[in-house]
Amino acid sequence: MDYKKHITVVEDWPIEGIRFKDITTLMQNGGVFKQAIKDIVDYAKDLNVDVIAGPEARGFIVGCPVAYELEIGFVPVRKEGKLPREVVRVDYGLEYGKDVLTMHKDAIKPGQRVLITDDLLATGGTIEATIKLIEELGGIVVGAAFFIELTELNGREKLGGVDIKTLMQY
Ligand code: IMP
Repeated sequence: MDYKKHITVVEDWPIEGIRFKDITTLMQNGGVFKQAIKDIVDYAKDLNVDVIAGPEARGFIVGCPVAYELEIGFVPVRKEGKLPREVVRVDYGLEYGKDVLTMHKDAIKPGQRVLITDDLLATGGTIEATIKLIEELGGIVVGAAFFIELTELNGREKLGGVDIKTLMQY
C-alpha cells in the first residue's frame, strides 16, 4: 500500500522550518486507515503482546484499534495532570519543546509484554520517555509501531534496541 499519498505535508507548522506530517487525511479514508491498522496488528501478533501503550493524543488513534482487534488492553500515556489516580512521571524533550508524561501506577503488571504505538517517530524523545515509564512499572517493551518515521532524526538510536515497525519513512 502506498500510504504516503494519503499523508498531507504542511510546511512551517506548528513553527517555521517544520514540515508537519498530517495523518488526518489518511484517517479520513476508511479503507486505508483500516489497512494501516491491520499492518500493525499483524506485527503485534508476531510479538505476543499483552498490552498496548500509546502517548496522547495520536498514540491513542493508532493503539486503540490495534488493542481492540487483538482483544487486549490499551494504556493511555498522558501529559501531567490528566490522570486521576497515582502516577509515575518522566520529563522529556520534544522535537520542538519540553514536556512531562505520566502513567497510572497500576497500568502495567510486572513482566507484561508491551507494544508502544504512536503516529510518528521523530527524535524518539517521546518513546524514550514512554519506555522509561513502562520499565519503571516492570513491563517489557517488545516493540514500537508508528505510521511514520523521520529517518534523518535518528529516533531509532534512542530506543536502545527496541524492535521498531514503521509504515512510511521520510
Ligand atoms: P519525538 O519525540 O521527537 O520522536 O516526536 C514524536 C512526537 O511528536 C509524536 O508524538 C508525534 O505525534 C509528534 N510529531 C512530531 N513531528 C510530527 C509531525 O510532523 N507530524 C505529526 N506528529 C509529529
